[in-house]
Amino acid sequence: APAVPDMDAGPARSHLFYQSRHRRPLLDRAKGVHMWDVAGKRYLDGSSGAMVSNIGHSDPVVLEAMRAQMEKSTFGYRLHFENAPAEHLARLVAELSPEGMDRVFFVSGGSEAVESCLKLARQYALAIGEATRFKVISRYPSYHGATLGALALTGYTTMTAPFAPMMHEMPKIPAPTCYLDRDGLTMEERGRRYADMLEAEILRQGPETVLAFIMEPVGGASTGALVAPDSYYPRIREICDYYGVLLIHDEVMTGAGRTGRFLASEHWDLKPDLMALSKGFAAGYAPLGAMVASDKMVEAVMEHGGFIHGYTYAGNPLACAAGLAVLRETVRRDLPGNAAHIGDLLKARLEGLKERFAFIGDVRGKGLLLAVELVADRDTMDPLPPENMAAARLVDLAYDRGLIIYWRRTRGGYVGDHVMVCPPLILTEPEIEEIMGPLEESLA
Ligand code: PMP
Repeated sequence: APAVPDMDAGPARSHLFYQSRHRRPLLDRAKGVHMWDVAGKRYLDGSSGAMVSNIGHSDPVVLEAMRAQMEKSTFGYRLHFENAPAEHLARLVAELSPEGMDRVFFVSGGSEAVESCLKLARQYALAIGEATRFKVISRYPSYHGATLGALALTGYTTMTAPFAPMMHEMPKIPAPTCYLDRDGLTMEERGRRYADMLEAEILRQGPETVLAFIMEPVGGASTGALVAPDSYYPRIREICDYYGVLLIHDEVMTGAGRTGRFLASEHWDLKPDLMALSKGFAAGYAPLGAMVASDKMVEAVMEHGGFIHGYTYAGNPLACAAGLAVLRETVRRDLPGNAAHIGDLLKARLEGLKERFAFIGDVRGKGLLLAVELVADRDTMDPLPPENMAAARLVDLAYDRGLIIYWRRTRGGYVGDHVMVCPPLILTEPEIEEIMGPLEESLA
């Protein structure tokens, strides 16, 4: 038998394919907003992993629901059995989704949820006799997933460039980075101007070829919690309706309460045609995601020969039991409300850091989807030199001090630095200090 290494000592050479810049310590346990490595060092999970652990770690209600389901069944293939957790979870998701969006297709992650939206959209176009529509317009910067379909929509050149020949090129418009513009317009005027870029692109492509437009209602890690001016959102819906283009919301990061409402789109009362959920949806307790669609679209596709798509693990009872418990607790404890309240307090504290640190260019976001952008000059918003690796270094300094945050090169991977400060939605007011202390020290 192969020797079992002493994992607590840390393997001398890992067989894992690490993607972190450093070897990180072995995780031992996690509870609430805290995590411990095997050496006993405690961390505050200031980014909920990758904006995942919305209800915190080791929640006893979720663990109990999973334990109870595990003792009954963990897997039943969806073509052989339906299962009660999936049924209940689908009903709850439909209740929490905009009116008319009441059909839920479960998957195992965010990329799969986005892929599912693409494939349902295309099959719907075929079902209603619009076979010429296949282009999906997206924005840059953006992130929609790692699989080749979702990656084709991703506006992040460092991630897409190696695979360009393997993907069908999809048109992209600029994300509404209005805060960077120096043009004398008001924010609301800028918001409409960015939305109008969608119309220009649809016309450039030929409306009869455009299937859908996909966006994150509040930008995720690619843009650093980018929120558009209010004027942007209704104009986007209007343009999509006028040209018969489906609106897909990627709420993988923003959904499940992260921005202070169950869905980020609720802030603008914006109704998509299709929606992708994952991350906080099962909050790290199981690999789970969902596509949410209207009855009308699903029925049309089903009548036209059925939905040609599916994943083996999709909708398995254990993942759905975890998701159901997470969602029930999210509602029962009003975690979106806590995200709004604590998010406002935390954002104000982050704003306060601007006084001390001239290199903080912008603090933005909604609820507990917050980002701090680091710049060379706040007036011009010129970025720091890339070789400084400012955001990455800030993350490392914070990590040493027991605070986990998340970084990305911003603005599409070309220039700029930001860190995401996105703790679990259960964060309490006193715990804000556990973020601010190490963060301020690291900035200094
Ligand atoms: N869409 C968005 C907005 C995301 O943030 C992510 C993950 N960062 C994905 C899709 C892909 O999700 P996953 O990594 O679970 O496949």
